[in-house]
Amino acid sequence: MTQTRTSDSVEKPTFCRLCEAYCGIVATVKDGKVIAIRPDKDNPHSLGHVCVKGMAVGDLTNDPDRLLTPMKRIGGPGEFVPVSWDEAMSDIAARLKVILDRDGGDALALYHGNPVGFATDFVVAVKPFLKALGAHKRYHAGSQDHHAHLAANYYAYGDAERSSFPDLVNCDFLLMLGTNPLVSNGSLVFAPRMRHDLDAIAARGRVVVVDPRRSETARRYEHLPVEPAGDLWLLLGMMRTLIEEQLVDSRFIGQMTEGWDDLRTGALSVSMEEAAARSGIAVETIQSLARDFAKTERAAIYGRLGICRGPHGSLTAFLILALNIVAGKFGKKGGRVRRQNIWRNLQRKLAECGPRLGVDVIPNCAVGDSHGGIPCRLKV
Ligand code: SF4
Repeated sequence: MTQTRTSDSVEKPTFCRLCEAYCGIVATVKDGKVIAIRPDKDNPHSLGHVCVKGMAVGDLTNDPDRLLTPMKRIGGPGEFVPVSWDEAMSDIAARLKVILDRDGGDALALYHGNPVGFATDFVVAVKPFLKALGAHKRYHAGSQDHHAHLAANYYAYGDAERSSFPDLVNCDFLLMLGTNPLVSNGSLVFAPRMRHDLDAIAARGRVVVVDPRRSETARRYEHLPVEPAGDLWLLLGMMRTLIEEQLVDSRFIGQMTEGWDDLRTGALSVSMEEAAARSGIAVETIQSLARDFAKTERAAIYGRLGICRGPHGSLTAFLILALNIVAGKFGKKGGRVRRQNIWRNLQRKLAECGPRLGVDVIPNCAVGDSHGGIPCRLKV
């Protein structure tokens, strides 16, 4: 879309960066102020999809409480005065130096919210910035709402930020837990057109929505009601079924993972009857779900914030990753794929959309490696 100008306002194509779906939006700007937001149907990435958060970014921009200049605390709680950026930077740098000289980088932590976290310049700069200060503690919105997934990434892949996601475009069987993407769109899955993707999967195969509530998404696809916080027991029952019916990918497990024996022993310590009782799902249903998942070549399991809110969140998130791995769906077309591809996709998309949106292409956004030490993690 090109900019459309009326006598006193101009429409600017841009994007929402409240989450990694990066939905395209059009901002109407008058006298330097955003006065309206609408979905950008011409955006080749999102094709006009946005969620309610994206439609509200204009309100955020114009909020009277929004800070437009640094504020320096001069007394007790709430006692601040505005200062210039130069003064703020000098003051912060001087205080940081004192802390670093005295206690080193371990005394430092960085917190950032979503809008910054999905700004490409920040993504590129944050790791070198922390490294230069000798710091490694980094917290963000995910530290609060999906910490269980970050912990699971660490245990399964050796790095909390090494996320993976279902390859929706090629998937034929998708099992979803703790998510209602028809309302909240595609966070943690990097997909701006979830309904289109899910409809296409349902047309090719199955979309199963595990949720205690008959959510909007559950109503549109196959709803599998589960006891609140019972997801873990469903997954343990599925894992046990894969083991007992020899539906695991032994070659992949043998070559690419370590700790399988421990995970196997742990899963077998839970009987199918216990899994059924604690999940509220019949033994036969759990077994048939596990078989369909394992036997569908292009299949994936995906979990989101809902599973992080109850007990056993980290273990539930880990089992989602582990099931994808042991069933041979990891790194496969239509299965669970890694984040590295995202950045390649993002770079390709930026190359397509960049000139139109007036943004540069980021040459390299790869993340680093480290090692964990938990059963059945991937050899990194
Ligand atoms: S899904 Fe919603 S919050 Fe995320 S980028 Fe799209 S409009 Fe923004």
